[in-house]
Amino acid sequence: MTTLRDLNFTNKKALIRVDFNVPLNDDFEVTDATRIQAAKSTIIDVLESGGAAILMSHLGRPKGVEEKYSLKHIVAKVTEVLGIQVKFVNDCIGETVEDLAQNLQSGEVLLLENLRFYAEEKNGDRDFAEKLSKLGDVYINDAFGTAHRAHASTAIIAEFFPENKCFGNLLAKEIESIDKVLNNSEKPVLAILGGAKVSSKITVIENILDKVDHLMIGGGMTFTFVKAQGGAIGASICEDDKMELALDILEQAEAKNVQVHIPVDVVVANKFSNDAETQVVDVAKIPDGWQGLDVGPKTIENFDVIVNESKTILWNGPLGVFEMDAFSKGTIALGQSIANATKNGTFSLVGGGDSVAAVKQFGFADKVSYVSTGGGAMLEMLEGKTLPGIEAILK
Ligand code: AMP
Repeated sequence: MTTLRDLNFTNKKALIRVDFNVPLNDDFEVTDATRIQAAKSTIIDVLESGGAAILMSHLGRPKGVEEKYSLKHIVAKVTEVLGIQVKFVNDCIGETVEDLAQNLQSGEVLLLENLRFYAEEKNGDRDFAEKLSKLGDVYINDAFGTAHRAHASTAIIAEFFPENKCFGNLLAKEIESIDKVLNNSEKPVLAILGGAKVSSKITVIENILDKVDHLMIGGGMTFTFVKAQGGAIGASICEDDKMELALDILEQAEAKNVQVHIPVDVVVANKFSNDAETQVVDVAKIPDGWQGLDVGPKTIENFDVIVNESKTILWNGPLGVFEMDAFSKGTIALGQSIANATKNGTFSLVGGGDSVAAVKQFGFADKVSYVSTGGGAMLEMLEGKTLPGIEAILK
């Protein structure tokens, strides 16, 4: 794996694909700079090795040029995070941009305008990628969040840097962490999959059955498994058309010696609301009209034991509707168990949109081994797919 250490940046212009797709408020201020902070190490490394950094990213889903998606809004924040005055140019290709890039001095940083102002970016257009490639001597991909897309700046561009391309520190760390879980893991390995639906996680489950010793199921997808096994799930969320698949997963797991842990009790509510009436019931005996929205106390205890016996943990998806206080206990307790296991030497990787939001919200982000920055990209890696953005560097 080629990383920053393998290339020379002295007096070179490094064209870095970062993921600065950050949330902005109505005043166009950055409300969460995590992604900018995540790219800092690569940018600083390039500058400290005598290079200049040209940063390219997308922001949102603009249709053509749309001022509200301009990266000019984030210049101040990037400047603040890096501690270096960042220059900005209101385009990402063309003569003006090329001149600015050409004249950039070592130690300087130039941020380009939103790549997605050109439809060619998402279309993976080769000519567009070639125009971008003119801006740098070296290409670095550090955008894990878009590594599963074969866009011009994330994958196609790499062919114009046959010798001078590498992974940035963030992307390298993401690849290493997932590899540590899937391929080089210390046993027993536990995968915890929660979230709303079986259908969105099915390929992940199928792929990881070969890699794990324990599979823990939580969240809304629990009820598809429970109903498939003949349980009464009341008004809980369920994908009837995935029940057969659920049974098939259980069979496959048994054949592969994977222990599956499904909640035994749940917190049920009489409506989908924080102020609903609630009670704790057996997961397979949910009364009519009631829906399961969190795991119950017995399940929390059971899960805690398994978590603390595991040496490698992957966590994707909350155990309940954690956005509502009334149904966040299971997810918080699981975060606590994982934090505890991590303290005792277990490697823990948390990834995939909502579980990342949960660990941040409940203060566990720095108590687990690694929090992935890419939701979709991480899921695709867990599905066993080779991501275009990663393959393009490896080629
Ligand atoms: P996902 O994006 O698939 O990881 O799903 C995350 C979402 O699943 C969160 O918004 C949770 O509120 C939701 N969720 C978790 N448990 C349940 C449940 N028992 N019933 C309905 N939704 C749930």
